[in-house]
Amino acid sequence: MKLQFNKKCLILALIISLACMPIATAGYNDVGIEVSSAYKVVPESENVHVTKQIIFTNTDPSTTYKRGYYSTFNHYLPQNAKNVKAYDVGKRVVFQKVEEGYHVFQYNRRVWYGESYTFYVEYELDINRNSAVFYILENGENTEVTLEVPAGFDTHLARNGYELEEMEYSSIYRFQRGMDWSSSCLVNTVRHTEHLILSDVAHLQERDVRIEIRYWEGEEVWAQQMLDTALISLPILEETWGMPYPASYDITITQANLTETGGYGGFNKGRAGIWMLHTSSSEILIHELAHYWTRACNFDQLWMDEGYADLYTYIVLNETNPEKAVERRDRFLQKYEDFRDEYDFPLSEWNIPESLDASSGVRVDFGYKKAFALAYELYVDIGLENMKYSNQAFAASGTPVDEDAFMDIISTSSGSDITSIKSYIY
Ligand SMILES: [Zn+2]
Repeated sequence: MKLQFNKKCLILALIISLACMPIATAGYNDVGIEVSSAYKVVPESENVHVTKQIIFTNTDPSTTYKRGYYSTFNHYLPQNAKNVKAYDVGKRVVFQKVEEGYHVFQYNRRVWYGESYTFYVEYELDINRNSAVFYILENGENTEVTLEVPAGFDTHLARNGYELEEMEYSSIYRFQRGMDWSSSCLVNTVRHTEHLILSDVAHLQERDVRIEIRYWEGEEVWAQQMLDTALISLPILEETWGMPYPASYDITITQANLTETGGYGGFNKGRAGIWMLHTSSSEILIHELAHYWTRACNFDQLWMDEGYADLYTYIVLNETNPEKAVERRDRFLQKYEDFRDEYDFPLSEWNIPESLDASSGVRVDFGYKKAFALAYELYVDIGLENMKYSNQAFAASGTPVDEDAFMDIISTSSGSDITSIKSYIY
């Protein structure tokens, strides 16, 4: 199993987007801003169409006597927003992209004290025909949001607090005005089609293994990426693990939604194949492929399985994409350090639930990072060649490898004192 990477809610601390630009020297606090945002998933156009109505009211007392007015508005739009349009009743509103996502909209008239100005912003976000993953990115205290998804999609929102209305042709999620939008909300929605098949053969040390990717219509890019990753990674796993592909069966990789994976990024079900969340990357597939070898090593403890799967993900990436390997390693080790004070526990007590929720997620994630930290330390200490000898000894042991057996085999095959890793386990 592998925890999915996209955090439940992306914290966008830097978005203070509703700051207004007064012409008179007035504070930003005394104006009224009311935003009504509608997100509509339009699979046939392969986009999410976003419409925002923004009502700006000048209630800033300092503009009464100074004859000041407001005429521009700063607003943050997602980086991947395209076809951005703005207009008021009947006329285009000119805008300029000033920096990373920030747009300055120029009102078509001056907004004097006591007046309101209403305008609209539209843009689109790219999605696939049968799957959409995007953020509802809002802010302000006076914002209402609706999301419309066509019937037949399986939808997950990363936050609660909405009302759901099921219509004949669509589902409508409504967040009432006044909710807190300081964090964005990840939307993950999928429409199952029959699985299509993409396949090829990996020429491995002892035999040819057929790789079959089962994917939904419209997910061809993902499918090709998974197939390429499997073809490239399997020979490297054989070489660096010191063992030929250990399973007796071919490999099926099935694209799955969040419900099917229980919140995890992937699952290796042995003979029944690997189940991959449709948003999961190549790195997660390498991790799942590595589990064929962790099983062959008779590991008895979760931390051995997951620590080694993530270590070998690093080792494979180090050959195929060294920059990513280093970035991922550093991110994992950093996370281990960051969460250690709050979440630490001995790895011998680690377990993971069938499915993840917000409360179990962080502990599970911490366990993965700690198991990786242990495995990485071991790898640095004894080196790849000694890792291979000990891997072969694990596999040859023929019985479940518990903590004592693990320590014995590692110190025998490497001739090293590895007692330092005990502090991770107990
Ligand atoms: Zn795993």
